[in-house]
Amino acid sequence: MLLLGEPPATQADLHFRIFGIPVRVHPFFWIVTLLLGLGGPGNVEPVRALVWVIVVFVSILVHELGHAFTQRYFGGNPWITLYSFGGLASCSDCDRSPRAQLLIAFAGPLAGFILAGILIAAIAASGNVIGFATSGEQIDMDALNVPSVLVQSMAGFVAYFQPFQSEVVNNTIGCLLQVNILWGLINLLPIYPLDGGQISRELFTLRNPRGGITQSLQLSVGTAVIVAVYALLNGSLYMCIMFGLLGVGSYQTLQRYQDRWR
Ligand SMILES: [Zn+2]
Repeated sequence: MLLLGEPPATQADLHFRIFGIPVRVHPFFWIVTLLLGLGGPGNVEPVRALVWVIVVFVSILVHELGHAFTQRYFGGNPWITLYSFGGLASCSDCDRSPRAQLLIAFAGPLAGFILAGILIAAIAASGNVIGFATSGEQIDMDALNVPSVLVQSMAGFVAYFQPFQSEVVNNTIGCLLQVNILWGLINLLPIYPLDGGQISRELFTLRNPRGGITQSLQLSVGTAVIVAVYALLNGSLYMCIMFGLLGVGSYQTLQRYQDRWR
């Protein structure tokens, strides 16, 4: 996900193994995730915040396991680090071929989509309505024949579901859909260092071994600018700043890369 290098070890690191894969959780992971989950100053609901942190932890772990299982499939011995802005599945002995790297990069978002798919299937199996629409107004409540639905905004579309009795369950479902679908889609944008940027680099390099990296960096700058402007027009200042910074980062990498080959 959104992480360039591994952070140094700290006293507060949490270590464990899952499916034989070592996992390290840096303390900043908990702090930054909590800050992201708080809906602004004065809006601190402890249960909602706890649900958010648990959902992000599980979802990012599943995402990184998608990468790590694929790395292991290609003969590597991966390890996972969770840090402030997500996670990293590292591997010192991994297959560096474009085909392997493409599949490894794609497997992270795919793992999240599978988790969301299992959740959606479980809700549908329980008899509750769940679906997607282009906007909250486009949900045909008469056709659904339920008293109410909860809507989770997904930047361009919405997911909706018939609420359960428990507020915590509803809150968990909303967070799981947001993190695993929306973040998964955002992560597939062809922007460095997102998984989509990695996929784009491998695809361009396969087609054009000499100029592929330059082309993928140009696409990264262009896409980041478009997303930043889109976010600004939709009032999401946080997303605007984040993609603005990613665009600047890609631009600087492009400059360095072109200087080196001039
Ligand atoms: Zn990833």
